[in-house]
Amino acid sequence: MSDGDCLFCRIVAGTIPSRRAYEDELVIAFHDVAPRAPTHVLIVPRHHIASALELGDADGPLLGRMFAAAAEVARSQGIAEQGYRLVSNVGRWGGQTVDHVHLHLLGGRPFEWPPG
Ligand code: 5GP
Ligand code: ZN
Repeated sequence: MSDGDCLFCRIVAGTIPSRRAYEDELVIAFHDVAPRAPTHVLIVPRHHIASALELGDADGPLLGRMFAAAAEVARSQGIAEQGYRLVSNVGRWGGQTVDHVHLHLLGGRPFEWPPG
């Protein structure tokens, strides 16, 4: 897939608008268009990686940054103290609908375990 065909690459490029919550040189975070919780933010690498299935040891710094960005957004959104859920859906059975790796940051209400 070329970057022009990928929804999240277009959001990173700004071709598709988003409500940004955080950005740096490696990642951006923006509010999900169809929130499943009072706070629902997506943390996305700027460069295209299809899913967590593609990640390896070399992506360690990127993954560290994604989790740190999630913590930063959780603090700025006021959900850090109560706790929150981080999720990365992988593939069809995992519930992935956009093939550009991302973390869902969900908060503002309690979550059940196991998920549906
Ligand atoms: P996935 O289903 O791949 O785990 O997560 C994709 C997420 O992207 C979904 O929660 C969906 O609501 C969100 N999404 C899809 N299209 C857009 C969009 O155009 N803008 C924003 N902000 N979120 C989107
Ligand atoms: Zn992409």
